[in-house]
Amino acid sequence: MPELPEAEANRRRVTEHCLNRTIEAVRLGNDTTHVELPSASEREALVGRQFTETARHGKYIFAGSKTGPWIAVHLGMTGSLRPYTSGDAAPDFARITFEFEGDTRLAYRCPRKLGWVRPIDAPESFVAETGLGPDAMEIDRARFRAVIGATRGAVKSALMAQKKLAGLGNLWSDETLFRAGIAPDRTASGLDEGQLDSLYDEMRHVLGTLLDLNADYSKLPDDWLLRAREEGVDCPRCGGTITKTTVGGRSAYHCTEHQS
Ligand SMILES: [Zn+2]
Repeated sequence: MPELPEAEANRRRVTEHCLNRTIEAVRLGNDTTHVELPSASEREALVGRQFTETARHGKYIFAGSKTGPWIAVHLGMTGSLRPYTSGDAAPDFARITFEFEGDTRLAYRCPRKLGWVRPIDAPESFVAETGLGPDAMEIDRARFRAVIGATRGAVKSALMAQKKLAGLGNLWSDETLFRAGIAPDRTASGLDEGQLDSLYDEMRHVLGTLLDLNADYSKLPDDWLLRAREEGVDCPRCGGTITKTTVGGRSAYHCTEHQS
């Protein structure tokens, strides 16, 4: 499931290919039942306008302009934003396509239909109305300590709660805990200041590394948990054993040896 780094990689593609071009048409793809997409009148309102800037908060991607309108995009489990040129084959599973002047197109590809595209007034008001916490790459150390350290539930659940901290999901919360040596089911409010600081540093390291690599997993180092997300395999850090558990209803992978 796309998290902050994957959302950012999608935002960068839109920025690179789709800004400052007049939108000439906004077309729905085949099979758009059960997908939240702009209505006919909302699509019409985008025609003749341009996206001049993009933004991202947590897992949400925004495109719009100073005077609006804006769209918010949630990638869901399998969604992506795919710029292409009209001479190329359109991506499969495109639920909505923006056609820009010239031959630039932007498809929202969403095979499993769990994401959405929604017209909004502006990113700031969307973030406030949705009640999202600070972006995981923007939050400062003191706020992180306060927010996570005040949570009585499991630390993995706290890291994934978008209203506390926006951007982490299943994969990168596990990776952060793996690096910090903290078990996913530890009670967040029971962590000491040193452990909270370590979590903060490792979260920034994990996300920062992925942002530098534009979320290309093939370039990740071999000692990441991602390389060993399988029950019973050897821990790439300590020779312990990777185990799969359920924390807060989500699957969690961790090392029984160096995480406690
Ligand atoms: Zn280990």
